[in-house]
Amino acid sequence: MSGASVKVAVRVRPFNSRETSKESKCIIQMQGNTTTILNPKAPKEPAKTFSFDYSYWSHTTPEDPSFASQNLVYNDIGKEMLAHAFEGYNVCIFAYGQTGAGKSYTMMGKQEEGQEGIIPMLCEDLFEKINEDSNKEDLSYSVEVSYMEIYCERVRDLLNPKNKGHLRVREHPLLGPYVEDLSKLAVTSYTDIADLMDAGNKARTVAATNMNETSSRSHAVFTIVFTQRKHDSETDLSTEKVSKISLVDLAGSERADSTGAKGTRLKEGANINKSLTTLGKVISALAEVSKKKKKSDFIPYRDSVLTWLLRENLGMNTLINMSEFIYADRAKNIKCNAVINEDPNNK
Ligand code: ADP
Repeated sequence: MSGASVKVAVRVRPFNSRETSKESKCIIQMQGNTTTILNPKAPKEPAKTFSFDYSYWSHTTPEDPSFASQNLVYNDIGKEMLAHAFEGYNVCIFAYGQTGAGKSYTMMGKQEEGQEGIIPMLCEDLFEKINEDSNKEDLSYSVEVSYMEIYCERVRDLLNPKNKGHLRVREHPLLGPYVEDLSKLAVTSYTDIADLMDAGNKARTVAATNMNETSSRSHAVFTIVFTQRKHDSETDLSTEKVSKISLVDLAGSERADSTGAKGTRLKEGANINKSLTTLGKVISALAEVSKKKKKSDFIPYRDSVLTWLLRENLGMNTLINMSEFIYADRAKNIKCNAVINEDPNNK
């Protein structure tokens, strides 16, 4: 795989109506891949500048030449991930940020023309590529999807909401961590996937907080298991390449106290942040291992359900962290540790 195994992008969304009515000022500037945060309370202090793999300016209108559209974001991030999946890598894209920062918009988007997010565009492209190869007799593909929600460290099947119980996370000696009884549905077209995504999105747990009426308090993990089979007619042998594409819309990264959370909400906050904190620790630990070029360091995958289930993706493949500007400091930490490991067989 070329380049770093971990890439970090940051995106600034337009003001919402509340911010516009309060005449908020944007304190972010972007130039190329650089993002600068100004401090209006201390204008004499030097501004903080961070360098990311991508800095997306979506704060203006689509007419503005500097505007970063959904298409641009997909072409930079989604297309590359899909190409790696065709090469046989497991790939993973995260959206990280405060509630209302634009995570779902970037990952799922809207159904209107030009507003679709990374997930639907990637699925559409996947089937387009599969269809292009449909006349190749030696090549066949199969695609399975699952969609789960991790809420307060418990897993729920979004493709089988009738199953109200929580699913157990187990570990297979060869295949690694998995969710017992999670629906894995075979799909043969983009329409199949789109229908399942719609059903799953409706089933997501949402709860109102002071921050955002429809704030999502759960991590949504959409997984595509993509198998490529190649048949060699001379030897009559078949080979299989299996790739896992994990697309994760993380729960809001805001701290419980800033959302006015109490009781259940406070507990939720602690659990949501447990997965987020562990994710940060896992990425830092992997980066340390990569720097030292050794494999023996302890990586705390098991400390949260999210990191345990994504172990195969985090340990050896590509990860993109979409971060929103308020959390630029955190994103910078991840960026500093960006190169994890470039060998797909090196766990
Ligand atoms: P989150 O998933 O982080 O809670 P959302 O994706 O729901 O946030 O975004 C909050 C609101 O901002 C939504 O109404 C969404 O349509 C809008 N929004 C977010 N990002 C953009 C963007 N890049 N361009 C236009 N609107 C956006």
